[in-house]
Amino acid sequence: MDYALKYRLFPTEVQREQLDWVRDTVRQLYNHALHQFNRIPESAGTVKQRVRKVRGEIPELKDWWTDLNDVYSTVLQQAVEQIATNVENLGKLKRAGYDVGSLNWKAPEEYRSFTYRQRGFELDEKSGPNGRGTLTLKKVNGETLDVPIRLHRPSPDDTDVKHATVKKDKTGAWYACLNIERDAPEKPNPGDIDVEDTVGIDLGILSFVHDSDNRAIGRLDLSDDRERLEREQRNLSRKEHGSSNWEKQRLVVAEVQKEMRNKRRDFKHKLAYAYTTVYDAVFVENLDVKPMLEGDRNGRNIHEVGWRDFITILKHHGRKHGCHVVEVDPADTTKACNRCGVKTKKPLWVREHSCPSCGYTTDRDHNAALNVWERGLSKLGVVHSESTPAETGTAVDADDFREVSASAVVETGSPCLKEPPKAANRQG
Ligand SMILES: [Zn+2]
Repeated sequence: MDYALKYRLFPTEVQREQLDWVRDTVRQLYNHALHQFNRIPESAGTVKQRVRKVRGEIPELKDWWTDLNDVYSTVLQQAVEQIATNVENLGKLKRAGYDVGSLNWKAPEEYRSFTYRQRGFELDEKSGPNGRGTLTLKKVNGETLDVPIRLHRPSPDDTDVKHATVKKDKTGAWYACLNIERDAPEKPNPGDIDVEDTVGIDLGILSFVHDSDNRAIGRLDLSDDRERLEREQRNLSRKEHGSSNWEKQRLVVAEVQKEMRNKRRDFKHKLAYAYTTVYDAVFVENLDVKPMLEGDRNGRNIHEVGWRDFITILKHHGRKHGCHVVEVDPADTTKACNRCGVKTKKPLWVREHSCPSCGYTTDRDHNAALNVWERGLSKLGVVHSESTPAETGTAVDADDFREVSASAVVETGSPCLKEPPKAANRQG
């Protein structure tokens, strides 16, 4: 399903000049490319092939036309490829009997927009002034611009936005048209899912998450950023409130905060991508009913906002990659023994689950993740043998514990989960 959303942009005066600069540079490229295109004989190939040939000349062009280096590459490519679309549209008009002549050069006022394809832009719902969002555009006259955007309806996740077209209308107002492409793959039928392709995830205490495959994903280390933030905030408090130095420093502080937000977001997206592409079903606790049920909430509260955010992101990636993301009843997931079900109280400092009844011993978060996993299996209706997974031996033992650092997630994206420990066990 594809659709487009149009949002009003509120560039500053300086930003407007920069956007106009790109618009005009891209227009000149379009005119140049059209000239080159017209010199290629029709016998040389289809319209698309000939346009592609012209597009291939962009890198050489940059050697002498240095302004092109200050425009994002897909914006340049899109401008050239627009020729093919325009030629085809012209052909349609001709066939319909219109006297349209040939494709014309574009005068400054005729060329109103430029398009980022796939990359080079980012959408953030909240970071703009006055409650507005931000559309970040790369390489606008060589600079990255954070353009305020009014997101008057729920904004799409920017991983779904395929193209972002920046457009100036005749009144001089700027808009962003976001083309959304959502190909939601079918989620597998629960009856067809292999138990081994499912995972339960628990909110870790020391780690960010701990899963039923006994994998602990570490927390993102932002201590350097936090130190920097404190330093910049101290600087800010020394400036005279409202002075131009204060205003400058305020922007520095905002920039550091934004970088931290982006790092957290990037980490969660990569982790969610990894889980939803490796597994067919991911089970998590339903946090909405969680707080009333467990006594050890305080230690977790500080991380809960991040965890809720992660579940939202996880669901989003689940839809995108055809992976079930199911929330389960969180009651007693920490207390109950995964092997025998006997409940024991565990203060926060007790890191290990050691069952007084059956003797099962593992990390406390691993035990909880196993409980989440089993509840998920039965809620979703994944068929597994009569006995519990633990008894059939499909559950992972405490010895299989693996630690994955947050930086490994950020740097490698999905490969950190590519080989689930269970698969490794089968081979070994
Ligand atoms: Zn037990």
